[in-house]
Amino acid sequence: MTQLSREREFLIETLQSLDRAPPKPYPLSTLNEPEPFTAPGRNPMTPEFDCRNCGVCCSQIPLIVAGDIREIIKHVKIPPEAFVQFYEPDEFIDEFAPDDQWLEMEDGLRVIAMKRVHDTCVFRDNGKCLIYAHRPLMCAMHPYQPRDVNEDDVEFNLECHHGCRGIPTGPASPKALKALRDRFDRFCKREWDYDDLVKKWNRKGRKRKSEEDFMRFIGVID
Ligand code: SF4
Ligand code: SF4
Repeated sequence: MTQLSREREFLIETLQSLDRAPPKPYPLSTLNEPEPFTAPGRNPMTPEFDCRNCGVCCSQIPLIVAGDIREIIKHVKIPPEAFVQFYEPDEFIDEFAPDDQWLEMEDGLRVIAMKRVHDTCVFRDNGKCLIYAHRPLMCAMHPYQPRDVNEDDVEFNLECHHGCRGIPTGPASPKALKALRDRFDRFCKREWDYDDLVKKWNRKGRKRKSEEDFMRFIGVID
C-alpha cells in the first residue's frame, strides 16, 4: 500500500465517525446528461441550487487558505500534512490560482490546496465529503459567483461552474440568500487574512522556507 493510500485509509476511518451532513449521492448515469448551465448571461436573481453530488468540483484542485486548515484541524483533529498539498505552477495549466496566494518556497513558487488521491480530493469518499460541515469556504461557495449589486449589496449567480452538474431550482428565499451572503463575508475575510499572511511570508526571502516552516508560520504545527 502506498503512503497516500495509507493516509487516505487513516482519514476515512477517522472521519467516518464524525457527525456530518453530506449531500445526497446522485446516480452516476446522470453524468451524461447535457450541461445544465449552458445559457449565457447573468441571472439577475440569486438562484437556489441543487447539488447533484457529481464530484466534478472535488476533482479539480480545491484551493484552501490558512483559516480553512485551522478549522479542519480544530474539528477533525488530523495533522495538516494529511490533507494539505503544495502545488507547483505547472500543475495549474487548466486551473486558476490567485496571483496573491503564491508562496515563495525554497524550491520555487507553491500554492496550497487539498491533497488529491486518485485525481480527487482526499476527503471525498464514496460520493461524500467526509468533512462536509467543516469543508473549506471555497468549496462551500461553489458554484456561486458574487456580483456587486451596489456598494453594500451582493447577489450571486451560477455563471462560473467549471462543469458543475447541479441545477438551479428557482430564486433563493431571503433566508437562503442571507445565509449565502454571511458565508461569502466569512469567505472574503478568510481570503484577505490569508493574503496578508502570504505577503508577510514572501517578504522573508526564500532561504530555508520549507513546507513545515510554512505550517509553523501559520500556526498549525508547533
Ligand atoms: S473538502 Fe469536501 S467539498 Fe471540498 S473538495 Fe474536498 S471533498 Fe469536495
Ligand atoms: S460540481 Fe456542482 S453538482 Fe457536482 S458536486 Fe460540485 S457543486 Fe455539486
